[in-house]
Order: sequence, then structure tokens, then C-alpha cells
Amino acid sequence: MSISKVAFIGLGNMGRPMAHNLLKAEFTVHAFDLASDIVEALAAEGAQGFSSAQEAIADVDAVVTMLPAGKHVEDLLSGSGNLLEHAKPNTLFIDCSTIDTPTAIKVAQAAQAKNLPMLDAPVSGGTGGAANGTLTFMVGGDSKALESARPLFQAMGKNIFHAGDNGAGQTAKTCNNMLLAIQMIGTCEALQLGLDNGLNPEVLSEIMQKSSGGNWTLNCYNPYPGVMEGVPSSNDYQGGFMVDLMLKDLTLSQDVAQATGTKTQFGAMARELYEKQSQSGSGNLDFSSIIKLIGEK
Ligand code: NAD
Repeated sequence: MSISKVAFIGLGNMGRPMAHNLLKAEFTVHAFDLASDIVEALAAEGAQGFSSAQEAIADVDAVVTMLPAGKHVEDLLSGSGNLLEHAKPNTLFIDCSTIDTPTAIKVAQAAQAKNLPMLDAPVSGGTGGAANGTLTFMVGGDSKALESARPLFQAMGKNIFHAGDNGAGQTAKTCNNMLLAIQMIGTCEALQLGLDNGLNPEVLSEIMQKSSGGNWTLNCYNPYPGVMEGVPSSNDYQGGFMVDLMLKDLTLSQDVAQATGTKTQFGAMARELYEKQSQSGSGNLDFSSIIKLIGEK
């Protein structure tokens, strides 16, 4: 199946730049978000804006969703939004949101019951990766459906992995984000320790980047304000990946760990810290803002 017309639903920090890259790759994009101003902004970039998800998905080859959590995806596809009923035959559903594995499997089964192929395809790479078209896709589902979706993934990303059956993409994403949170906290603690002992955060960051402590958060997402340009820490922790979304992902990782009896002690501690950060009223800040909590005396 060749895909040329795509509905994109959920145009937030991630969805909007992803949809923009589909436009750049000359896909026809039908755009919908609950926030009409974002739909208008994407329409100004060449998309066709719609005022409901049902209208946006009529007559497309594929539907990409990029929504906050499992309840939003389930409600839109098989609950009150009922997109699975409104889709034309063979429409390919691709959920790029990060959601819990059981919901991903449940929604895929509901789609398949209506003969609609569905993939879970959560992403990694942050808002920078979304803007630059360098995301990593972790795909769960049928390999034939993945091959149909590949041109879309290639327009939005650089690495495309087939993790396994439906739900496997979400499980891979859960493991990755637990590791990301642990790395971010470790990086913040190391920077704070250096700072409290008279080191310059820029110099220390460069030293650690080139040493055995180097990691993605230091290379691409430094949490200390002013060390790196174009990242949320240098913009009052606005945009990026919200604390509340990281808390959601860490809760998912602990649910998965509990189900299999896997010991993830650092993951559990990371969840506690992000919960504290969220409860302090910083849920809407980028997740690198955890350095503020770590810096509290
Ligand atoms: P966001 O809050 O910026 O965007 C979500 C968008 O979905 C909003 O614009 C909201 O209006 C819209 N929305 C919610 N319900 C809707 C509905 N029923 N119909 C239409 N639109 C609806 O979040 P984000 O940062 O773009 O993240 C989206 C997903 O991507 C989340 O699952 C997140 O965990 C995941 N993710 C985010 C990042 C990141 O760095 N921000 C990285 C990887 C994965």
C-alpha cells in the first residue's frame, strides 16, 4: 500500500514539527488538534486544517496520533472519538504517542477487528529530533504494515526499529525512558556536585562529555542554564519534554517492572523524584528542570 495522504492528530511539542516534516516530504497532511491555533499555524505551513478528528481522517491512507497518554489514544480511536468506525477500509493507524503497553495492544486489537492495520511507533529524540527529522521509531506490529509506514518514518526520523508484535514498541520506549530519567538525574547530581565545589558547569560538562561519564543528556540536552544553546534549560525550561510526561513514563516503567517482578530500584527512585518535582508545581516544565530540585539545600 502506498501512502500519500496522512491525517496527523495531536500537534503539540512533538506532533507539530513531525507533521511539518511530512509536509516537507510532500505528503498531503490533514491536521487536527484540540487547540485550534496550532491547527491554523500548521495550515499556514501547507497542511489542510480540520475542526474535528473524524473529518480529518476521512479519505486518508494513514492516521498518525501523537497524544499525551493511553487514555487519550483509546478514547479517540475506540471510545467517544470512535475513529476506527469513521476510517475508510485499510487505513493504517500509527500511534506515535508514548502509552502503556496493555492499551497499545487493546487498541491494535480493536483496529484489527475492523480490518484496519495498526502499529505502535513511539519515538525518541526529543523536540530537537522531531524538528530535525532525526527521531528514532520503536515499532510494534506487523512487518507488512511497518513496510507501508516506512516512508512516513523516514520523513520524520533516522532510525527505525521493529521491536516485535503490537505493544513491543511501547515496552522498548518504557525501558529507554526509564534509562533517560536515571541518566538525567545522574547528570544533574554530577553538575551540582561540581558547582557546589567551585567548578564551572560549562568546563565540567565538556570534561564529562569527553570522559566515561558522557551520555545523551550531556551531549544533547544539558540541564544547566546557558551551557548549551537551543535546549529547554537555556529557555527557562519551557518546551521540550514535560516533567508530567516523564512522570507518566516512569510510572509505566514501574507498572511493567511490577508485572514481571523485575527489580528496577533506580527507576523507582527516579519516579519518586519526578513525582516530587511535579507536586512542587513544575509539572509543565521540561524534565531537565529536575536540577532545581537536586540543587535545593
Ligand atoms: P504536548 O502536550 O505538547 O502535545 C499533546 C497534544 O495533543 C496537545 O497539543 C493537545 O492539545 C493534543 N490533544 C490531546 N488530546 C487530543 C485529542 N483528543 N484530539 C486532538 N488533539 C489532542 O505533548 P508532546 O510533548 O508533544 O508529547 C506527545 C507524546 O509524545 C506523549 O505521549 C509524550 O510522552 C511523547 N514524547 C514526547 C517527547 C518530548 O520530548 N516532548 C519525546 C518523545 C515522546
